[in-house]
Amino acid sequence: PENALSALPATTAPGAFSPEQARKDVPILHRTVNGHPLVWLDNGATTQKPRQVIEALSAYYSAANSNIHRGAHTMAREATELYEAGRTAVAEFLGAESPQTIAFARGTTEAINLVAQSWGRSVMEPGDEILVPVLEHHSNIVPWQLLAQETHARVVPVPLTPEGEIDQKAYTDLLSARTQLVVISQASNVLGTVPPVEEMTALAHRYGARVLVDGAQAVAHMPVDVQRLGADFYVFSGHKLFAPTGIGALYLKPEMAELMRPWQGGGNMIESVSFERTTFAPMPHLLEAGTGHISGVVGLLAAIDWLRSFDQEAVAAYETALMTYATQAMATVPGLEVIGSAAERIAVLTFTLAGHDPASVADWLDRDGIAVRAGHHCAQPALAHYGLESAARASFALYNTSEEVDQLVASLRRLQAAA
Ligand code: PLP
Repeated sequence: PENALSALPATTAPGAFSPEQARKDVPILHRTVNGHPLVWLDNGATTQKPRQVIEALSAYYSAANSNIHRGAHTMAREATELYEAGRTAVAEFLGAESPQTIAFARGTTEAINLVAQSWGRSVMEPGDEILVPVLEHHSNIVPWQLLAQETHARVVPVPLTPEGEIDQKAYTDLLSARTQLVVISQASNVLGTVPPVEEMTALAHRYGARVLVDGAQAVAHMPVDVQRLGADFYVFSGHKLFAPTGIGALYLKPEMAELMRPWQGGGNMIESVSFERTTFAPMPHLLEAGTGHISGVVGLLAAIDWLRSFDQEAVAAYETALMTYATQAMATVPGLEVIGSAAERIAVLTFTLAGHDPASVADWLDRDGIAVRAGHHCAQPALAHYGLESAARASFALYNTSEEVDQLVASLRRLQAAA
């Protein structure tokens, strides 16, 4: 086609939802593993990609590949248009004020490090406190520890209840005029816990603290509205949202824009360079040094379009029903214990099986073509809260079915019977 943009799949209108519809679109779900049809229950680690995303990448490289912004030719303009269309799609997807509130990054981890370096370094003072729930993923703990070391600020853990919820009384007591930042995952990758982010954010703001919300595990499972959440920063990874690896995004509340300092220097983030005085590009380009992951943005755009082609409330309701079904079915496996029992949870089931270490459970399931993760899930403090170093985790997405839950349960029962 003359215009490369037209080679990309068209946006689909929001419609109804069924897991079978979603499955039809995802080619990898139709492969076999160890002679069995694949049962992909490792969505917390990464999600599988619909053909709409795969085809968008192919179309981009077949018809539209160019660097952006700097070239004064047609294809550079087209690639720029696509990249900015991706920014607009992310802004709309998150309910952000404008595309200018969105900066692209490699993923959640890079976006958190970006905030720590670009914002944290310039505002954090000795004695300032960063409240970090024990529930957090390592990528929402370690960057704050590094920042605290550099600035003599303090990382303060917020304890969990026995159910695996953030202890709200402790949180309220820990907030003070010293609190500079609160970080919260909108959904936990290990216990599935969905904390009351909106209330926690409102409370933090009363103390003048800023709030970073880690949406890595939330974006694929619930409608997100950053303005309603009141988040000052919101971060997520594309690969957990049916998009390629290596692309993610950071949302910044408009008033945060002027507080952001350069964190990586290079092309794209400058206005002019001289040895006397270099001046910088406006936000969000200030935060995007070097050539970005243009095809990743194209894939992310396609993934958002794909997800939004389904009724989002219907997807969330389906996953809740699947989680209820899975929780009941897993309870029938002798010796199986699910970790965490928060009232609000996404479809994540982390469990131990009496008599078997988690790695051998994952290994056994793998022989039946069932992919689950075993290990510390990059959330060692959360597991330590339960006296554990390791556990197995089945994490679901919109394309998983109750039949797959049945296969998981049957395989675990066979393991117990064989022991
Ligand atoms: N935060 C949470 C809650 C996660 O589940 C993950 C990934 O597992 C991350 C952050 C890090 O994401 P990434 O490795 O894509 O940067």
